Amino acid sequence: MAPPPNIHERTYIMAKPDGVDRGLIGEIITRFEKRGFKLIAAKLALPTKQHLEDHYGDLKDKPFFPGLITYMQSGPVFCMVFEGLDAVKTGRAMLGATNPLTSQPGTIRGDYALAVGRNICHGSDSVENAEKEIKLWFPEGTLQYQLSQASMIYE
Ligand code: ADP
Ligand code: MG
Repeated sequence: MAPPPNIHERTYIMAKPDGVDRGLIGEIITRFEKRGFKLIAAKLALPTKQHLEDHYGDLKDKPFFPGLITYMQSGPVFCMVFEGLDAVKTGRAMLGATNPLTSQPGTIRGDYALAVGRNICHGSDSVENAEKEIKLWFPEGTLQYQLSQASMIYE
């Protein structure tokens, strides 16, 4: 028998400095909330270089890595954890392709960005990485609570 759908899957979503500076925090939250995802942690942060190098550790050999770290330190980021069915995969779909020039209209990057090095937002790419990123950005933990309209989102 298939396991029951995991309505408590969590993903780490972050408005990058350009997303914050352009006033898109609310837009990102609105899109995730309207889709049915539940916000269970949120804060502004000014991450250190080391923290960002940990977050983007798998990209450290890429030629764009130094520029990525400089960009990510150019202003505050807004860190979020959303919970819901298929949160990781659906979250990535809502963000759109990494390069906004190929992101579909209707996605966040496809609606608000034009350059891969200024693509507004981050979203975890696997359930395993989501759990790692949530621990890295929210060592204090996340909240557990029940939304009153949950039965209107899930059967
Ligand atoms: P994603 O953010 O979609 O998971 P990656 O993990 O591959 O994409 O890359 C992390 C971030 O690094 C991207 O969101 C983007 O800001 C930046 N980046 C990726 N590829 C490039 C590139 N070719 N040139 C400049 N920046 C890039
Ligand atoms: Mg990535």
